[in-house]
Amino acid sequence: KNPSPRKPDWLKVRFPAGPSYARIDRYHRDQGLHSVCRSAACPNQGECWSRGTATFMILGDICTRGCSFCNVACGAPLAIDPEEPAKIARAVAELGLKHAVITSVTRDDLPDGGAGHFASLVRAIRAEAPGCRVELLIPDLAGSRQALGIIMEAGPDVLGHNVETVPRLYPVVRQGADFRRSLGLLAAARELAPAVPTKSGIMLGIGEERHEVMQVLEELREVGCSLLTLGQYLAPTRAHHPVARYVPPEEFAELREAGLRLGFTHVEAGPLVRSSYHAEQQFEESQHA
Ligand code: SF4
Ligand code: SF4
Repeated sequence: KNPSPRKPDWLKVRFPAGPSYARIDRYHRDQGLHSVCRSAACPNQGECWSRGTATFMILGDICTRGCSFCNVACGAPLAIDPEEPAKIARAVAELGLKHAVITSVTRDDLPDGGAGHFASLVRAIRAEAPGCRVELLIPDLAGSRQALGIIMEAGPDVLGHNVETVPRLYPVVRQGADFRRSLGLLAAARELAPAVPTKSGIMLGIGEERHEVMQVLEELREVGCSLLTLGQYLAPTRAHHPVARYVPPEEFAELREAGLRLGFTHVEAGPLVRSSYHAEQQFEESQHA
């Protein structure tokens, strides 16, 4: 494999800082919580946490799939912790979060793909921290409409599912997933709960062509997706799929404009953008659309 090209200056990571950062950091250590912000060493931690946004990973940290761009370990998954919804809900309340994003690994081993656990967590947060918005970023649930129904029934504020890349690259970096199935899931979410905005995201720089990206954006709009995130793919290690290209900030800005023209209510696009970056702002704009 060719190694990834050298990182350009615009990807230099900002150092996390601020009182909220320190508080949340300590809390994680004390409670043994898993947040994506920390485990993925997300460059936006300082900023997100000072705004009261954090992303938690549920259902363990071992995935039943092994996408070649992803740093999550894959293998035999862990047993579900029945206390997890209560633990996270308590953390959300104690940290005074305004916008909690909850995501999980893919659990092909569970009959409902973990849907019941997501639903319990939404209910637990509603009970413990009624002022906090809950955004879910779910796996594809093997395309099960029934499992999705369990989640939508619990009433999340936003339902996210990332298509991650263009369909041509699925066999290369996203084995086990299916672009059409992912689109179908986003369509079904709108049918089951028309008032809940849906969100998706793509990583750029994996090897996709511009026209393929535009095609994906159009298809996302066709299934009613209104929130979009576009970020730079960064190879977690040399063993992962290499970065094909670092997309310059101007190109992200252009794609953002193109997305808005297609009718997305909010497009978050930039080299350091992750699904949950500026999540609270994305949600607010979706409400004013
Ligand atoms: Fe956490 Fe997401 Fe913000 Fe990164 S972008 S710090 S993962 S909330
Ligand atoms: Fe990573 Fe999700 Fe792929 Fe699992 S399914 S390896 S968590 S991207």
